[in-house]
Amino acid sequence: MQNLRDRKTLTVWDKDYLWHPFTQMRDWLAEEVVIIERGEGVYLFDVEGNRYIDGIASMWTNVHGHNHLDLNAALRTQLDQIAHSTLLGYSNIPAIKLAKKLVEITPIGLNKVFYSDNGSTAVEVALKMAFQYWQHKGQPQRKLFIHFDNAYHGDTVGAMSVGGIKSFHNTYNSLFFKCIRVSAPDTFCSTNVGKDSDIALKAHWLSTVERVYSEHVGEIAGIILEPLIQGAGGMLISPDGFLKDLAEFAKKEDILLIVDEVMTGLGRTGKMWACEHEDVTPDLLCTAKGLAAGYLPLAATLTTDEIYDAFLGEYSELKTFFHGHTFTGNPLACAVALENIAIFERENLLHRLQNTIAHFHKRLQEFYSLPHVGDVRICGMAAGIELMKNRDSNTPYPFEEKVGIQVCKYALSQSAILRPLVNTIVLMPPLQISISELDSLIDITYRSIDAVTKNRAG
Ligand SMILES: *Cc1c(COP(=O)(O)O)cnc(C)c1O
Repeated sequence: MQNLRDRKTLTVWDKDYLWHPFTQMRDWLAEEVVIIERGEGVYLFDVEGNRYIDGIASMWTNVHGHNHLDLNAALRTQLDQIAHSTLLGYSNIPAIKLAKKLVEITPIGLNKVFYSDNGSTAVEVALKMAFQYWQHKGQPQRKLFIHFDNAYHGDTVGAMSVGGIKSFHNTYNSLFFKCIRVSAPDTFCSTNVGKDSDIALKAHWLSTVERVYSEHVGEIAGIILEPLIQGAGGMLISPDGFLKDLAEFAKKEDILLIVDEVMTGLGRTGKMWACEHEDVTPDLLCTAKGLAAGYLPLAATLTTDEIYDAFLGEYSELKTFFHGHTFTGNPLACAVALENIAIFERENLLHRLQNTIAHFHKRLQEFYSLPHVGDVRICGMAAGIELMKNRDSNTPYPFEEKVGIQVCKYALSQSAILRPLVNTIVLMPPLQISISELDSLIDITYRSIDAVTKNRAG
């Protein structure tokens, strides 16, 4: 732990020099700063020595816990060899081994791995591959992407172009390339859960996709979506069977299906990949967040032989995929990712996880007894608890009231680290969380929502 003077200095330096992501810095400057110094399992420790449970897996990335012996060892072993060498024109051992492993553990047919550093770039790669693929296939007019309301695919300009979150994306609208956004139904409201509305919602999405497609036949390059659950859009659960039906439609019409598993991959939904729940093999699959177990930035875009082969040709034909990030296939990150997957296999984690998920789901039902909880949305080890000013009249809290932020602030005082999506409280702990740790995370969250919402007029 740092001494008092160091701690104060760090806070001053933070405010003097740092610009935090997705943060209104004026608010930040007025607040206490929590500076994390170390981690252990599902816990984070700040420079004051306070311990917090990591309720969001350090922004949805951590899988096996922090400071994990085997992951640390894998990293050290690689570090003693080399930290980085380039994949442009040369290769490296961990990048080769991980590519083989990823092909083995992803849906059959995804046979080629293209690395990058983060979720947004994994999506950019998929979009560029799909776009260029059609040029090589002699259909250059196919350049539009179909995407969905409330989608989140990252913050780079291409990834934002296929995004659908108004509050994040509207500012940059005029920068985006032309896409076709499928709108949620007018009546769309996350609280009308239940089988009937699920079926109606699926019908809406599918018929809207078919309609926009019919208006642009021959111009569509691909469809991009987050499988099963839209994360940053508010933890919105897709209707059962939607992914499968959409995949069938894409196949029938010869449109490329891009599945963004950046959040859902690596066990988050209870299977290694969300696609597996509906037996779907996409044409392109993006993975990032949990890929290197939450240790290092690493991403991959996987694709089929069909797409890969379309890029083969004479050097002079310029069929090369002109894309590559400097740190593509970084050996340290790939070595940790290999150990990440090895732990899944060694510990039979996905099997064991089913118990944790069942417990998580059962306990989350308790939140419905809080009068200001509108909807509790759950998919595997990811949950969104939506807060409402008035649940009966379906009135949300105005976003400027920052109720979600207040709840997370309260939770911090109770030793849990959370981060909301507007008024949706997200719970996304490391997959290796124990039942008793999960219980305390849920208890703290419950208390925090209760305390904050009870004290407000509403
Ligand atoms: C987080 C996320 C991204 C962006 O990943 P970054 O690493 O933040 O660029 C893309 N898609 C989905 C579904 C995500 O959850």
